[in-house]
Parts: sequence; C-alpha cells; structure tokens
Amino acid sequence: MKKQTVKILNSDFTNDFQVIAGPCSIESQEQFFTIAQELKNMGIKTLRGGLFKLRTRPNAFQGHGQVAYPWAIEVKKHLGMGFVSEITDPRQIDEMSDVVDCFQVGARNMYNYDLLKELGKQKIPVLLKRAFSATIDEWLYASEYLENGGNNSVLLCERGIRTFETKTRNTLDVNAISYAKMFSKYPIISDPSHGTGRSDLVEYGALSSVAAGASGLLIEVHNNPEEALSDKDQALNLEQFKTVFEKTTKLYQFLKEQ
Ligand code: PEP
Ligand code: MN
Repeated sequence: MKKQTVKILNSDFTNDFQVIAGPCSIESQEQFFTIAQELKNMGIKTLRGGLFKLRTRPNAFQGHGQVAYPWAIEVKKHLGMGFVSEITDPRQIDEMSDVVDCFQVGARNMYNYDLLKELGKQKIPVLLKRAFSATIDEWLYASEYLENGGNNSVLLCERGIRTFETKTRNTLDVNAISYAKMFSKYPIISDPSHGTGRSDLVEYGALSSVAAGASGLLIEVHNNPEEALSDKDQALNLEQFKTVFEKTTKLYQFLKEQ
C-alpha cells in the first residue's frame, strides 16, 4: 500500500530507515545528554526518553514528569535531534507540545480513545504502540481515531504481545509487522526492547523485524544498564547498540537493493 509520509523533524520514516534510541526514562539531564551525544555520534537522529512512566507497581519510579521538560529541551536543541516521549493524559498535550517532536502513545493507552481523539487534533506526529492484548485490527482501528481528527502523521509500532510464553517479557509479533506493512498506509516500526524484554535478544528481534518489513526501530539504550531506573533488563549499552544499529542498517539496505 502507498505509504503516508511521516517525518519527525527532518527525519523521513516513510522512505528511509530510522532508528529511535535512548533510555527508557530520562533520569537526569546529565544522563540524557551523555547518551544522546553518543547516539548522535553514531548517526542517530531521533531520541526517545520517558518523562511520564506508567509502571506496573505504584512504588516504582514514575518518571520525572514536568521537572524533566527543560532537560529534554536543552539536550535536543543542543544536539539538533528529534525527540519522542510518551503522553499519558490528554491534559499534558499543551505543555508537551513545546517539548516533543512526536507523541508516543504507549501500549497501555492504545485503547484510550479520548486521548487518541485529542491527539488527532494536533499537528505533531504520533507513534502508536500496539497494546499487548490488541489484535492487529484493533491496533489499526486505533490509528483511524487519529486520522479522523485530522492527524495523518502516524507511526505504527509493534512492541510485542502477551502470550503463554514466560521466557521473554512479550512475544514480538513479526507477522503484525509484515501485515501492517502491506495493509496500513502508515510506516511500521518495531520495538524489540519491550518485544523481548531481554538485552541479549534485542539484536535478534531487531534483525527479524527488519526482515519482516519494519522501516524503523525503537530501541532502549542506557550508558549503564545495570543502574537504569526502569527496564534495565532490556537496555542495551552504547557499544551493543552500535552493533545492532550497524547490522540492521546493513540488512535494510541489502533488502532494499533486492
Ligand atoms: C516505553 O516505551 O518505555 C514503554 C513503556 O513502552 P510500552 O508502552 O510499549 O510498554
Ligand atoms: Mn521502557
């Protein structure tokens, strides 16, 4: 299907291979800057970093929220990079519009139709994650909420679904990637970090996603994964990430030339 052009700042997610990278959570300005600088040196153009974290346990780190807005703004402006972060409540739209270049709708909020309706009225792109219990149709229908409001800048993101398997945090559904590539007008990216939940499997998840048709990836990277305040088991260190970025870029190029 002919794809809608979706750009985050100047990065074209429809025609070029793009990797969004960064920590699960923005833990401090220094941490975010250190990671972002290294990523920029590798050629990454779009950062991720959680401001508001929806955690399974209420006493887990919930993100620095508004406190971290100036940190994110400073880092992205200084380095000239795009920035994606999760929105968890429609009341954050106005303030976050000055901070992010793309709103992330997380797996837990894919069914939050009031949030989707409000984001549909915005001019900022939306990265729409698949809920861990959503069928492919439910996920694609969720993108129609954005479209109906007038927002056609949508990136679909497969991030693993819940199955009977317990060895991995989620089961990365590569079928969904291929299906969405064929039948949705939006570019499809994959998140093998949440899709596997294990840093030792992220490379395989990333490569299989590209082979299945993903035109981009979202990967969690930390300068010191053991100390990460959220999702430490799946975070790649900078060196591991560099290898994954290089291999997936090569695979994408190879497949494009066939
Ligand atoms: C995240 O990207 O850090 C995140 C919470 O993702 P998901 O909504 O897919 O769980
Ligand atoms: Mn995470």
